[in-house]
Amino acid sequence: MREEVTGPKGAEAGPSGAAPAQSISKMHVLFMLAVHAGAVAAFAWFSWGALFTGLVLYVVTGLGITVGYHRQLAHRAFRAKVFVTRILATMGSLALQGGPLRWVADHRQHHFHSDSDGDPHDIARGLFFAHVGWVFYVYPRNYDQRRIRQQTKDLCRDPYLLWLEKYDFVPGFILGGLLLLAGGLSYFLWGFCARLVFLYHSTWLVNSACHSWGYRRFHASPGTNNWLVALLAFGEGWHNNHHAWPASARHGLKPWEVDLSFALISALKKLRLAWDVTLVKPDPNSRRGGVLVRT
Ligand SMILES: [Zn+2]
Ligand SMILES: [Zn+2]
Repeated sequence: MREEVTGPKGAEAGPSGAAPAQSISKMHVLFMLAVHAGAVAAFAWFSWGALFTGLVLYVVTGLGITVGYHRQLAHRAFRAKVFVTRILATMGSLALQGGPLRWVADHRQHHFHSDSDGDPHDIARGLFFAHVGWVFYVYPRNYDQRRIRQQTKDLCRDPYLLWLEKYDFVPGFILGGLLLLAGGLSYFLWGFCARLVFLYHSTWLVNSACHSWGYRRFHASPGTNNWLVALLAFGEGWHNNHHAWPASARHGLKPWEVDLSFALISALKKLRLAWDVTLVKPDPNSRRGGVLVRT
């Protein structure tokens, strides 16, 4: 079936005017400092078992963000069984990047207002702001539940996602507690602190590096394609491709553009756990060189 998909259904553009920064969130600053200190301390409490656990959890959590929060929930790039959607969203919550609704609302805002005042991590405000600074600012709009619900109407039908939005920190903190209880300090430092820090920076690099460095295949679209970020963030570094085709489940459009997140989506489709996977099909008759198809 061939079908043009223009954007996430149920999503509306949020306010485009830049809200003035009201204050810095001390809680966010303290948490980030603590978790970064824990990541540094992890090297003093090194063990191969703890490092391996941290790496496995990095992949599980990272795919929760890229496949769950981003490609499925924010862009509706594929559909999946309800339990798969919920598992992916729970995996994403382990990244402690906020609940699924707020994450999706911020991300849709980024696509609607890329590189302008309404963009939550507008690159025009500098590399530091786009990378991490934006996380610390408390804008009224960031916590405006009406704005968040308006931009995520399509997701608010699932009571589990609503619960996860309210208690987004619960799965992540339970995991941290289990690591400490079962593995001791070394496993907590690698599996919780170091994993979170590496994942924060690989996610933030999509907002900073992938709006600054790399090649652009689609000159009418913002963002850049950056192979290093693509490796660290499981295919999310093909960001210029993504801005050009936001609804595509596959961000790496060429064979050498490795995209681990798409590999997971393909595996879910083969297992009949996912369907309606949206892809870009080359089409010389199309002005954009391709059309979106659902497979
Ligand atoms: Zn972007
Ligand atoms: Zn996106």
